[in-house]
Amino acid sequence: MGGRRCDVDLPIAVNPGPQPALARGSPLPLAGATPEEVAVALGDREPRYRARQVLAWVHKRGAKSLADMTDLPKLLRERRAGDLLARTTAILARHPSDDRTVKLLVGLADGESVEAVLIPEGDRWTLCVSTQVGCGMACRFCATGTMGLRRSLTAAEIVEQALHARDELAGESPDNLVFMGMGEPLANWPALRRALEVLNAPWGTGIGARRMTVSTIGFPERIRDLATLGLEVNLAISLHAPDDDLRTALVPPNKGVGIRELLDAARDFHERTGRRVTLEYVLLAGVNDSPDQARRLAERVRSLGAFVNLIPMNPVAGLPDRASDPATVQAFRRALRAAGVECEIRRQRGDDIAAACGQLRLAAAPGASLDGFPGERRPEPDSRG
Ligand code: SF4
Repeated sequence: MGGRRCDVDLPIAVNPGPQPALARGSPLPLAGATPEEVAVALGDREPRYRARQVLAWVHKRGAKSLADMTDLPKLLRERRAGDLLARTTAILARHPSDDRTVKLLVGLADGESVEAVLIPEGDRWTLCVSTQVGCGMACRFCATGTMGLRRSLTAAEIVEQALHARDELAGESPDNLVFMGMGEPLANWPALRRALEVLNAPWGTGIGARRMTVSTIGFPERIRDLATLGLEVNLAISLHAPDDDLRTALVPPNKGVGIRELLDAARDFHERTGRRVTLEYVLLAGVNDSPDQARRLAERVRSLGAFVNLIPMNPVAGLPDRASDPATVQAFRRALRAAGVECEIRRQRGDDIAAACGQLRLAAAPGASLDGFPGERRPEPDSRG
């Protein structure tokens, strides 16, 4: 998750990966739907308020199925239970950590699974959500990158991670939501765009846009699309290197885009939205952690006015890189600050439950069962986004 995972820029075309199509007449995953789509699915005979009533049950009242929506007409609940799906995912495993971090393994209807992590900060909670099963970006230090891309999530599957988190938090939405779990969010753009709309909408989950952060390795065109959504979401770009040769070695999609173009897009985002951009920088021992590299990084990013998060690497078994030692991390921070860049060292959370992205899923037993799963999966198509 988080900066221990991604950040880069895609070469040009963003391929969302295989996405199952929704056939006409297929069940509707309600968590990814707008009131208008739900109204169409309900049909002309239902009153106008019915769609929002159904969505309030999905997003605010914890309904797992149409049967739970007890103030709906009994006939409607019985007849439509099979084609209006309040949840298409289920919790396969729940791993609490000593520091109160809770990692959820979320099972999808086709047998795949992703991770969502609830991270405490005082009395506030941040939810880290996944946007893809695996990831095709192949960042050198990332557990998820070793899996490759299996498929992208639907908007409903992304939103349902927040609904599972609400269940964990006794019906309260998490205070902040970060797209830093498995996958590259901007490589799954249509579903991400729809998920942001639903998560933010008053008829949806109702999480403030300024409390949501999209973390990306950085596709310039998609960053500009994000800036024009009309939502004041935050942007975090995983940079990890002060020059293109090193960044391409760490984050292969950097090849063909480059740091300059990426930072130009970040500047456009900042100017258009007024939101300060965050740069993520995972420190790898002997690779990108010298004071000279800190000074060169500062030269490139100072004028952007971005905030830099320094992230000690979470070691991944089988991968070559190791975490920088604490003294080196401190020296890197001092050099960045001396060069005029605001930065902080991000505290590691949930290490005892393997909260680095992809690690819980990699550890999960294959074939784990989906108890209470609502049935065959019929995700919504991208075109709805
Ligand atoms: S491989 Fe994917 S999930 Fe991992 S850090 Fe890179 S973009 Fe993020």
